[in-house]
Amino acid sequence: MIDSIQSGDAAFSFSESGLNVVYLPIAGEKHTVSILKIESEDSLIEKREMLEGFSRIYSNYLLILNESQRDKLTSLLNRRTFEQKLTRMMQIQKSYKDDYDGAKERRRLTPNSFAWLAIIDIDKFKRINDTHGHIYGDEVILFLAHKMREFFRDNDLLFRMGGEEFVIVFEPMPYHTAEAALERFRATIEEQIFPQIDSITISIGFAKITEVDYPPAILDRADKALYYAKQNGRNRVDNYELLLENNLMEDSAIEESIDLF
Ligand code: GH3
Ligand code: MG
Ligand code: MG
Repeated sequence: MIDSIQSGDAAFSFSESGLNVVYLPIAGEKHTVSILKIESEDSLIEKREMLEGFSRIYSNYLLILNESQRDKLTSLLNRRTFEQKLTRMMQIQKSYKDDYDGAKERRRLTPNSFAWLAIIDIDKFKRINDTHGHIYGDEVILFLAHKMREFFRDNDLLFRMGGEEFVIVFEPMPYHTAEAALERFRATIEEQIFPQIDSITISIGFAKITEVDYPPAILDRADKALYYAKQNGRNRVDNYELLLENNLMEDSAIEESIDLF
């Protein structure tokens, strides 16, 4: 079976109870992503062509689905899939909390582990475009996307939300871990030397994702922290909850309730 996973061919055998079995590898972009096991009383080897055809159709379907979720320039996840993926992360956050409350796996979890959403925005990007042209600007966007993929973990969700704005959704972790990762990423970008423009900087705003939240509200909080970073010198990382705690920002919930009257 291992051979067939590697070669992408169907593998035929028999189950302990004497049934015909076929393992159909489903190809992803680079390697096999899953195996479909079919058991039947009838001989399956005669249906080989049909079964392998089915597995190719399903592989193609997965590729198309994957493509529709990705931004054309950078191949990061696109804005269209944002709500769905974020909602899924909120469910993970909820199950983390339930696990913790239920005293399961306590060593792995801490009471202050949360999922986090960060918005990254390139500083003074318009100037880069205006001075060196849109194509050069696109190269900078591509470079940043590449660095994000290299730097962040496979489980972190990376989006290009449009233009020179990116979003990262982190799995539950303590505040300091998220802050340290973002701060290291900011510094990594600042240190990078570019031909013609020397360096670029980025500003980052991030906010906590709670299990009782909804996507636009989370985005709005991270955006407020980003706005603060932009207003206070750029090339920095700010957290919404910390700004709120230090009275450096108005509570968006309070603002909304004022707007009602
Ligand atoms: P700030 O530090 O306040 O973020 O300044 P900024 O100039 O980056 O901010 P602003 O949002 O005003 O400008 C973003 C610019 O990004 C405007 C537009 O010319 C450019 N832009 C948006 N989408 C793309 C894109 O796909 N490719 C390129 N090359 N430029 C883009
Ligand atoms: Mg912008
Ligand atoms: Mg910008």
